[in-house]
Amino acid sequence: MRAAVYQGNQQFAIEDLADPAPAPGQVVVDVEFCAICGTDVHAVMYDIAPVGSVLGHEYSGVISRVGPGVERWKVGDRVVGGGGEPPPTLASARGPRFNYRNEGFPTERIRAYAEKVLMEEWEPIAIPEGVSSAEAAMCEPCAVAVHAVRISKMRLGDTVAVLGAGPIGLLCMQVARAAGASRVFVSEPAPARAEAARRLGANAVIDPTESDVIERIVELSDGLGPDVVFECAAAKSTLDDALQMVRRSGQVMLVAITWEPTELLPPDWMAREVGLQASFGTRPEDWRIALDLIRTGKVTMDPLVSDASFLPLENIQGAFEALCQPSTQLQMVVKHG
Ligand SMILES: [Zn+2]
Repeated sequence: MRAAVYQGNQQFAIEDLADPAPAPGQVVVDVEFCAICGTDVHAVMYDIAPVGSVLGHEYSGVISRVGPGVERWKVGDRVVGGGGEPPPTLASARGPRFNYRNEGFPTERIRAYAEKVLMEEWEPIAIPEGVSSAEAAMCEPCAVAVHAVRISKMRLGDTVAVLGAGPIGLLCMQVARAAGASRVFVSEPAPARAEAARRLGANAVIDPTESDVIERIVELSDGLGPDVVFECAAAKSTLDDALQMVRRSGQVMLVAITWEPTELLPPDWMAREVGLQASFGTRPEDWRIALDLIRTGKVTMDPLVSDASFLPLENIQGAFEALCQPSTQLQMVVKHG
């Protein structure tokens, strides 16, 4: 099988690797679509990915081989590459509340920038009728948004701000809306992403390079500030912006991972007793909820993933080079085969 193998120094090489063979209790998934995650971009940009690793954790595909003793799957089943409920013994070994927390981080494991991925039979989940394989590849990032909204204090009728309309921000705004947010304001400087936020029903989209985003969002939320702010931008000042704009006793959800030191000035917000909650990874139920939101159209991938998103594995080097620049792209997706 072909795979994009990381060589260090932001370089990939397309190599031929041995096809995986399933041991008892394992399956092989032939990958159809693998979305390029911001975490992969960071792993490459900051050269954290080990030399020889094969990344790619947002994927869908088809079961092509089943190992001895596998009863759950047959060849031809359509699956998402993750989200399964671990067996109780494994779940308890990994802590009382199992969380897919290392999805984005490089491991020894060969993942979906290869044509085939070896999985334990409990790991994949079935793609329901009515969800395309391309949409299903976005199940993991959608589950990240579901996780953030579910662990937040957001309640029916709340006013919400989403900072950053990259894939996670666009999913977060849709999930918050599905969970009952009455108004969603988005901050995004890149025109294509701002337009996508508008198309997906943002009540207002603010360009932070053109107006004072804190002032504007506070004004739009009746002068009080949003109840909950989802920080999905990971730009230098956005966490501070979030803390400054949120309502008294409101909550800031830190969703994006900022890899550089961030300056915060507590007197600007601590008197309002705001809460700061980090969100990281996903739980199995978040994936199931994400698939259901996609299936029922409450979350749409339409402006996020389009024909323009797809690229063949050979073009992965160029895609990462583009994504390491300040990004105006919506979502790039490797299409195998
Ligand atoms: Zn991801």
